[in-house]
Amino acid sequence: MSAPQYEADNIFAKILRGEIPCHAIYEDEHTLSFMDIMPQSEGHCLVIPKVPSRNLLDADPTTFMWLMPTVQKIARAAKRAFHAHGVQIVQFNEAPAGQTVFHLHFHVIPVYEGTELKLHAREAQDGGHLAHNAELIREALKFNS
Ligand code: 5GP
Repeated sequence: MSAPQYEADNIFAKILRGEIPCHAIYEDEHTLSFMDIMPQSEGHCLVIPKVPSRNLLDADPTTFMWLMPTVQKIARAAKRAFHAHGVQIVQFNEAPAGQTVFHLHFHVIPVYEGTELKLHAREAQDGGHLAHNAELIREALKFNS
């Protein structure tokens, strides 16, 4: 059985090409972070590499050299922005494992004591709310250590 291939018409590839909009938080030469449109908690966002791969399984290992520092940066900022009690970092590989968009990404999900996470990729959040949350995380990034 041949391994599944990267397909350039996935939603995150379109976001990277500027073909569809996103609520961007952070961008550098190798990575982009933006709000998840169906957040599981307040402040749920995503971090993706600019280089194409379906997920962790087919990614060039050097991808993580650039990606993980951005994941850490965004996790710290999201926790600070929303006064969260913790942060889940989640990453799915292939559909049976829960992956729905086939461009490598890490979820950064702020966690609040006493509040259960919503279901994965179910309920879209209002655009104005997402824009506001992106702004809060961008502000918090200024204080990142
Ligand atoms: P996966 O299931 O592949 O780990 O996660 C894909 C994530 O992308 C889901 O949490 C889903 O809510 C989010 N998502 C799906 N379509 C879009 C979109 O068009 N824009 C943004 N910003 N997020 C999306």
